[in-house]
Amino acid sequence: MTIKKAAVIGAGVMGSGIAAHFANAGIPVMLLDIVPPGAAERSAINNAAAERSVIAKGAVERLLKTEPAAFMHKRNAKLVTPGNIEDDLGLLGDCDWIVEAVLENPELKRGLYARIETARKDGSIVSSNTSTIPLHALTEGLPERFARDFLVTHFFNPPRYMRLMEIVTGPKTRGDAVAAITEFCDLRLGKGVVRCKDTPGFIANRIGTLWVQSSIHAAIELGLTVEEADAVMGRPFGIPKTGIFGLVDLVGIDLMPHVARSMQVNLPKSDLFHSVPAVMPLVEKMIAAGLTGRKGKGGFYRVTRQGDARIRETMDLATGEYRPTKEAALASLAEGARNPAALLAHPDRGGAFIRRALGRTLAYAASLVPEITDDIASVDEAMRLGYNWKFGPFELIDRIGADRLAGLLKAEGEAVPPLLALAAGRSFYREEGGILQQLMPDGSYAPVRRAPGVLLLADVKRRSKPLAHNGSASLWDIGDGVTCLEFHSKMNTFDPNLLTMVETAVKRTADGFKGLVIYNEAGNFSAGANLGLILFGANIAIWSQLEEMIAMGQRVYKTLKYAPFPVVGAPMGLALGGGCEILLHSSAIQAHAESYIGLVETGVGVIPGWGGCGELLLRHTVNEKRPRGPMPPIAATFETIAMAKVSKSAEEARDLMVLRPGDGITMNRDRLLADAKAKALELARDYHPPSRPEFHLPGPSARLGLGLVVGDLVRQGKATPYDVVVSDGLAEVLSGGDTDITETISEEAMLVLERRVFMSLLRRPETLARLEHMLDTGKPLRN
Ligand code: NAD
Repeated sequence: MTIKKAAVIGAGVMGSGIAAHFANAGIPVMLLDIVPPGAAERSAINNAAAERSVIAKGAVERLLKTEPAAFMHKRNAKLVTPGNIEDDLGLLGDCDWIVEAVLENPELKRGLYARIETARKDGSIVSSNTSTIPLHALTEGLPERFARDFLVTHFFNPPRYMRLMEIVTGPKTRGDAVAAITEFCDLRLGKGVVRCKDTPGFIANRIGTLWVQSSIHAAIELGLTVEEADAVMGRPFGIPKTGIFGLVDLVGIDLMPHVARSMQVNLPKSDLFHSVPAVMPLVEKMIAAGLTGRKGKGGFYRVTRQGDARIRETMDLATGEYRPTKEAALASLAEGARNPAALLAHPDRGGAFIRRALGRTLAYAASLVPEITDDIASVDEAMRLGYNWKFGPFELIDRIGADRLAGLLKAEGEAVPPLLALAAGRSFYREEGGILQQLMPDGSYAPVRRAPGVLLLADVKRRSKPLAHNGSASLWDIGDGVTCLEFHSKMNTFDPNLLTMVETAVKRTADGFKGLVIYNEAGNFSAGANLGLILFGANIAIWSQLEEMIAMGQRVYKTLKYAPFPVVGAPMGLALGGGCEILLHSSAIQAHAESYIGLVETGVGVIPGWGGCGELLLRHTVNEKRPRGPMPPIAATFETIAMAKVSKSAEEARDLMVLRPGDGITMNRDRLLADAKAKALELARDYHPPSRPEFHLPGPSARLGLGLVVGDLVRQGKATPYDVVVSDGLAEVLSGGDTDITETISEEAMLVLERRVFMSLLRRPETLARLEHMLDTGKPLRN
């Protein structure tokens, strides 16, 4: 069965976010909540629909304002139809999938299911977004028909951005319903689907809750500061730098006791969870005082204002009072930056804290397989995708050493779970014949399965050697006659090494391959040119070398553009500056839905110098939706580059004309490489490189016109004096320099113009100040 229409019931934090994400997948969705008490009665004369659906309507309005955005494009909001469960229940009869996301209360949920049951069509699927209630408790007393079509689909907050989807099925759940939901969540919603058994908290929250509770408890007992606990628990172990306290501030401190109590009630008495107190006086006191974290009056951290100054403060765990935030300085932390195992064994309080809190968490994870899921890879996937850990618990144990962890646990007087003992002398993961294998609870090793159709460069790298390689990039054979160019420089920035590898990639691919994909799995496609290198060159005034690097980039990108085979750019995450320009030179783009693409060069006082100005102008020139005449494409390109616009999704990159109508978007990043490869093969069937364009541009009159627009912005305080200089350089390039509309400008001449303006801007002290500031702070200088 295919899912064409959905409904979400409960328009709170989760329900509204889930509905938005259905809309991101292009699925029309009903969003229903209760009729608020006191709303007008529904009657034929008094059409009170708006008032009666005000909760869901308000939720859609809020969705349009939340940051980070819930919708990948604002127009997606039109796919969400708000309503209420009194008047609109009948509309469920149209829906293929109904998601329940009301309050975490089993009676309330069951009561709602009984009503849904009367309205839904045969074969439709109902699921709950519960975080803690077991499926068997939710279906109690409900008819067989319901139980067959019911499962738990546990989204994480925020539903657009968190990749984990835990699925729990009951003994009666139809196999084809599970298959349909799994496929939909994977392909259309982009989720990493993890199958869990029907146990409280499923996988991620079961482990995550113990991790949070025992960490807070241990930090208080061992006398760590909040900053110290977060610093040692964060980066050294590949855990987000929010650590523990920063995470609870983000999620909401008031949620903690609810989840902990629910675990306490539902977990068997023998569970390790009970060894940590579920109620912590400090946390209770904070909640009572409205200190619920970022959404409240502050949390373990807070920022207050004194006049114009922002004061950062931290909660003192001993006194419950705020004091100025101070950086953590522990010997174990310095050690742990290089070697997490050394941090774990360190004698200071940082080491003791990690042993107690993380050691216990890892042991807990090991004690839960196969109770909560069949294999360790599912646990690791759940913690990576649900808590943004870089390594799952078992991957972490492998980094520490199973024997070493067992020894530390014994020394702490903690039990060593059988699965951890089973791994003694070996590891939880190993590679066998280029295949990644995992240790199973019976002591054997089995391959880590990938969903059908998933192609990961990490797997290609396990089983093969690169076709070419240097310090900044590598070229791989990904099968079926397609190569993959992978960047791996710092933040995937462009340097001469990387440009050389692009040239090599073109040469090698031309030699017997059908197409090239540009892709990597670093999280961010590319942060653009290596600014440190450019600033260094400018400081020692090696202008001719810098100009040669610009010329080299221009040459290499055009080689890519006119290669005899198709090139597919496949970004995910940031693709900025030179990273965006390489996409503009590809034959096609297959982007991950979460791609943030833009030409941001003006922020550092220059303009795109690797052909980006001309390529974006060409895209705007052929845009049939734009009014005719030479000025509209120039003005649109000018605006995009001068304002350093960056798309907040791949869908928005279509508006910027970086993505063209034929370019594709992949929702699940694990499928991006396979989709890009398929696109390259499809284009290769009948591929002809593009013909060389000619530009007809108005020259100085257009430059003058653009200057007037910028002048207005300066008067309104929206542009700085140096913005005027940079944007005048951009206007010179986009208007064609010293030309007029009757003349023809070649692509090569446009590159010469672009390079000349780039170099003249680079020589100015204001540009160097912008470069320096960006490198120091990561933010643009407004000089
Ligand atoms: P919420 O309090 O923000 O929203 C609940 C909504 O349900 C409210 O708008 C309420 O008016 C509505 N509601 C209550 N009874 C209803 C009924 N009978 N019919 C229709 N609507 C009704 O809650 P939330 O945080 O969105 O949580 C919803 C569910 O998702 C819970 O089961 C929760 O455990 C689960 N969950 C929450 C998170 C999270 O981080 N908040 C994460 C994963 C799962």
